[in-house]
Amino acid sequence: MIPFGGNPLNRASEKRTDAKWIEAKRRDPSSLIFPMWRLEPFLVGAEKSPMELGLLRPGIADSLAGAEAPCIFLGLDGDTAVFALDISEASDPAKEGPLAGLGSFRDARMAAQVVSIKDAALIAQAKAMIDWHQRHGFCPRCGAPTKMMDAGYRRLCGKCNAEHFPRVDPVVIMLATDGEACLVGRGKQFPPGMFSALAGFVEPGETIEEAVRRELMEEASVKIGEVSYYATQPWPFPSSLMIGCFAKALSRDVKVDENELAEVRWVERTVARELIEGKQVDGLRVPPPIAIAHHLIRTWALGEKF
Ligand SMILES: [Zn+2]
Repeated sequence: MIPFGGNPLNRASEKRTDAKWIEAKRRDPSSLIFPMWRLEPFLVGAEKSPMELGLLRPGIADSLAGAEAPCIFLGLDGDTAVFALDISEASDPAKEGPLAGLGSFRDARMAAQVVSIKDAALIAQAKAMIDWHQRHGFCPRCGAPTKMMDAGYRRLCGKCNAEHFPRVDPVVIMLATDGEACLVGRGKQFPPGMFSALAGFVEPGETIEEAVRRELMEEASVKIGEVSYYATQPWPFPSSLMIGCFAKALSRDVKVDENELAEVRWVERTVARELIEGKQVDGLRVPPPIAIAHHLIRTWALGEKF
């Protein structure tokens, strides 16, 4: 399973509009509340993998945030309701108040690498939802304030009644291959030596296959034939869905677009096998397993079926 996928909750979407049921679950002492502070999840446990999400009972959670703080219904774990609560208003909840000394708030990307697949999936859902609410307090149509509805899955404009829904932005990320070599690139902002699969946003009026071919042509001037789907990964930074693909190159001629990338390179399969083990080869390395790029390169390098 690729991290951020594999969410174990029953999202119970039919319950979101039942305000009485949501409110009862929100106060039910057996419910669990997942606090996020300034988009950072709360982790508990020893400083080695796996750590766990710090899930709270409603009473403690209420003391951390005002009544207006966004509380989003994530779903049901068996009969237990799980919510995410934005406690960004608190000044330093890991040091003061009821959570002091119990754990720490961590950058979501780092946190996802030290918790279980299940907990990483909850981080993805909670982070993307809270982030969306933080950025959509005003109506893009008329500019008036919007209000959270449906346990977090809709915002309603108080003036023009426009409805707004949590967004997911599709991004294609693709490994171009030609026989025994694959194409990787280094973004200008990447750490030295880090190479990854090329990626870009799908544009309006475009299919996934068209986006794959366009991005590879724009960034590396590589012509592509067949495109095949691999897998997807939720990527909550802030709201992407990474759509992993393989793309058959029609030649190895490349020309990097220097506005987008620092460098592109063809890498032989034997080298790719070493890179996915975390080794550096000629100063080159590839992303860790938190990134779908790692899994694309691994699957191709090991000749696994997809
Ligand atoms: Zn409006």
